[in-house]
Amino acid sequence: MAFNRDNVISVKQQFAQKHELAVARAEQRTRELAERFPEIREIDQKLRKTASELFLLAAYPDREARFEKIRRDNLELMEKRRNFLLSRSLDPDYDSVHYECEKCEDTGYVGYQMCDCMRRALIAAGYASSGMGELLKEQNFSNFSLDYYKEDKENLARMRSNLETARAFAQNFSKAGGHLLMLGPTGLGKTHLSTAIAAEVLNQGYDVLYVSAVGLVADFQKERFGGTVSAAENESTSRYYEADLLIIDDLGTEVVNQFTLSVLYNLLNERMMRKQSMIINSNLNHRELKERYSDRIYSRLLGNCQILLFSGKDIRMQKIRGV
Ligand SMILES: [Zn+2]
Repeated sequence: MAFNRDNVISVKQQFAQKHELAVARAEQRTRELAERFPEIREIDQKLRKTASELFLLAAYPDREARFEKIRRDNLELMEKRRNFLLSRSLDPDYDSVHYECEKCEDTGYVGYQMCDCMRRALIAAGYASSGMGELLKEQNFSNFSLDYYKEDKENLARMRSNLETARAFAQNFSKAGGHLLMLGPTGLGKTHLSTAIAAEVLNQGYDVLYVSAVGLVADFQKERFGGTVSAAENESTSRYYEADLLIIDDLGTEVVNQFTLSVLYNLLNERMMRKQSMIINSNLNHRELKERYSDRIYSRLLGNCQILLFSGKDIRMQKIRGV
């Protein structure tokens, strides 16, 4: 599992701030109570004293008996404090620390284990940094309907098999990895299935990045020819190499020249060598792919990807017509 590095840094910062804020709020309330009530001030002084006594316990041979006494004194003081606040019609927990997550006290960790709340925050951050935005909410496995393909038996069988392959790819992501090449005309569900896989893989805690082939090439061009390249822009192309799953949509719509061919080859080759998964979608067919790309890119794609073919009537058009 490899959450996006930048997300881990920012989520950890958010948790540290959340924890500090909760403690600071409680301390502020404690000070407020102490200012208002001399009785509370006195109890709190005694409580602090019992805490410092605990520190010194180890030095005494009769530490167990001493510990027991401190514990009893402490409980008594707490009870007294509680009753005092109640007698003034105040909430006895008025100045306790209120964490969003009591389990990890907003630190994100229970012992050495990451708390579920931090895992959820990292997954949400992964959704945001994937570049897929709203699509992830709209397109998933449960709303991928085979009804649109039912007119033609062959199409239906092909799409059923594509759906199964996509599901298995997502479910076994941690173990199997691999690459998918989805080929077929626009509007047949390639993006829908890619998004559905992305959501599942993000939920498993992986770093997913989605980009159109045009956007990908533009980013590398900016880095190479853009003159003054900021660190942030450099960072954006390194993510194409680092993400656990890279989804390249609409391969074939980008301009092809020596530069883009070399960028694409390096990226595909490097990721394939490192066994970092990709999903590549294209409207081109085999022949068009072969004509458009160099032999080495074509053979990389064919040799390393599981190929899913899409065929049938444009779903978007069917939806518009209400078929
Ligand atoms: Zn937690």
